[in-house]
Amino acid sequence: NKRREADAPGVWERIKDHPCYSEEAHHYFARMHVAVAPGCNIQCNYCNRKYDCSNESRPGVVSNRLTPEGAVEKVRDVAARMPQLSVVGVAGPGDGLFQADRTLRTFELLRREMPDLTLCLSTNGLALPDHIDALKALDIGHVTITINYLDPEIGAEIHPWVFHNHRRWRGVEAARILHERQMEGLERATAAGVLVKVNSVLIPGINDDHMAEVNRAVRARGAFLHNVMPLISDPAHGTVFGLDGRRGPTPAELHVVRESLSNDARLMKHCRQCRADAVGMLGEDQCQTVHAGGGCGSA
Ligand code: SF4
Ligand code: SF4
Repeated sequence: NKRREADAPGVWERIKDHPCYSEEAHHYFARMHVAVAPGCNIQCNYCNRKYDCSNESRPGVVSNRLTPEGAVEKVRDVAARMPQLSVVGVAGPGDGLFQADRTLRTFELLRREMPDLTLCLSTNGLALPDHIDALKALDIGHVTITINYLDPEIGAEIHPWVFHNHRRWRGVEAARILHERQMEGLERATAAGVLVKVNSVLIPGINDDHMAEVNRAVRARGAFLHNVMPLISDPAHGTVFGLDGRRGPTPAELHVVRESLSNDARLMKHCRQCRADAVGMLGEDQCQTVHAGGGCGSA
């Protein structure tokens, strides 16, 4: 049944030991996110700065999150304690490709020292077209792109600005740039043989009616999985500051949208929307909530 859902040839073989994609594997294998990516090149209105994207993680501001060398040391420690560790991902707390040198250096060091690890990257996609060759060279087999819209008018309600080509773009123009770069990155990554999952944050009243269109577009460009995640708007986790009090979908609303998409959406029902420094077996850490966006959301 899982084989049927992951229908592209060879995909099941490539995901069966990945705890995020295989419901069986998530009982036996562990994953770890290393928070080496402090900055972000876009703004998502749902991004929860209180927990993850602090003001210090805006473009051009240096942060002293984990260094690539520090990340490798942490992975080494965890792997010594946790033999089930099979996947290491960069999922924020900002965008993994905004300061790409940090992420690529981390992958390079990990690849050298622990060649059997599966390496994953999460990104909002803005910088993805510029790094396909580097990711391929490091054998990064899994990439997640967060894509919330196709229509820039809708995108502008979710992402108020992007930082691209040394300047900040706003509104519909910004959303158009992000959309074009996401589609280009997705097409080129899948053409290069990378398994690409697309995450979408479901925001009732903004992109819920648009999700089927997003699903068709990303599947047509080779995404092997489309994971629709609920907007998290629990006041306990901070305000969803740019969305004017928008709430997340109810479980029933989420179910209706997921069921309306091609059936691969079911594969990711156990996704925990883990934070950028989550470690362990899925479900064993208390990491649900924070980073619904370009970070993982999901490695
Ligand atoms: Fe950037 Fe992710 Fe925050 Fe969006 S959710 S602003 S992509 S760090
Ligand atoms: Fe896996 Fe989802 Fe957690 Fe990412 S957020 S590590 S895809 S369960």
